[in-house]
Amino acid sequence: MKTSFYFIIFLMAFIDAQSQSIYKRDFSKMGSKFDITVVANSQNEADEFIDLAIDEIDRIENLISSWKSTSQTSEINKNAGIKFIKVDAELFSLIQRSIAISRLTDGAFDISYAAVDRIWNFDKKNHTWPDQQTLENSVRNVGFENIKINEETSQIFLSQKEMKIGFGAIGKGYAADKVKALLQGKGVTGGIINASGDMSAWGTQPGGKAWKVAITNPLDQTKNYGLFELRDKAVVTSGNYEKFIKIDDEVYSHIIDPRTGKPTKGTLSVSVFAPKAELADALATSISVMGADAGVYLINQLPDVECIIITQGGNVINSKGIKINTYEN
Ligand code: ADP
Ligand code: MG
Repeated sequence: MKTSFYFIIFLMAFIDAQSQSIYKRDFSKMGSKFDITVVANSQNEADEFIDLAIDEIDRIENLISSWKSTSQTSEINKNAGIKFIKVDAELFSLIQRSIAISRLTDGAFDISYAAVDRIWNFDKKNHTWPDQQTLENSVRNVGFENIKINEETSQIFLSQKEMKIGFGAIGKGYAADKVKALLQGKGVTGGIINASGDMSAWGTQPGGKAWKVAITNPLDQTKNYGLFELRDKAVVTSGNYEKFIKIDDEVYSHIIDPRTGKPTKGTLSVSVFAPKAELADALATSISVMGADAGVYLINQLPDVECIIITQGGNVINSKGIKINTYEN
């Protein structure tokens, strides 16, 4: 999963002419580990920036989380099959973009997957297969076409009673982008937001060196697979080696195929590079559903988006623009 994707900062005890340094803080939010790295003039200044970032993550979580009963998303879910709900422009456009990604991925990505969530408990590792009828009933309530939107009134309606939406596959990427924009707006010259492996970087380290991230080799988590420069870009990894369930002793990821209602199995890890963490996050999840071949085919059509897929068998499949600077640790 995302935490497996960590970055290496070459500190080198380096302080530049304006005595700018790198400051990092780890914390938990949105049910996940986060860390934020900023370039700042002092610990105090860095603390102020990071406090602002944490407030922003709280604000986003309170707005979009389907786990918070008071969020607008929960309001939409409670009113499934009943009525349209007016939401903030921010949530409205997140839903519009989510639907656009569903179209782009032929439904592999679908925020209404969440109806299926009711039959899987990813905190409980050992499952047996639910019967076919249970699976079929759950996917009947999945379908982005049934998320009705009214642009003029900023209202959303889930047209089937048992429908539910959730932003588990895009929300952390969205939060990473928003926090990056906020800190850039405050004049922070460089940093990395790591939302549990959804990494969004901007600017450089003090002195002008690019930020670098390493991808963990899912076959041997003590090793890195590659080292990549992140220049005003995001990279996100979805993988099943941290968050998974076992069904009849086989390992499945927590990503669900909206067409079958079943957890997916095909890829060990998918890393997607894109200008925005939100898109990278959603696409990494989508490729896990679509499989390596269809996934790389899709990514090769998209401008400024690249991917690295590691299959169950350990094969590595890259999109056209990936140049690997292999790194041993
Ligand atoms: P992580 O949570 O490890 O960052 P992902 O970004 O791949 O991983 O998101 C997985 C989460 O997305 C799941 O825990 C679930 O909440 C949600 N989800 C699962 N399947 C889908 C899907 N097909 N489309 C959209 N969201 C999904
Ligand atoms: Mg995702």
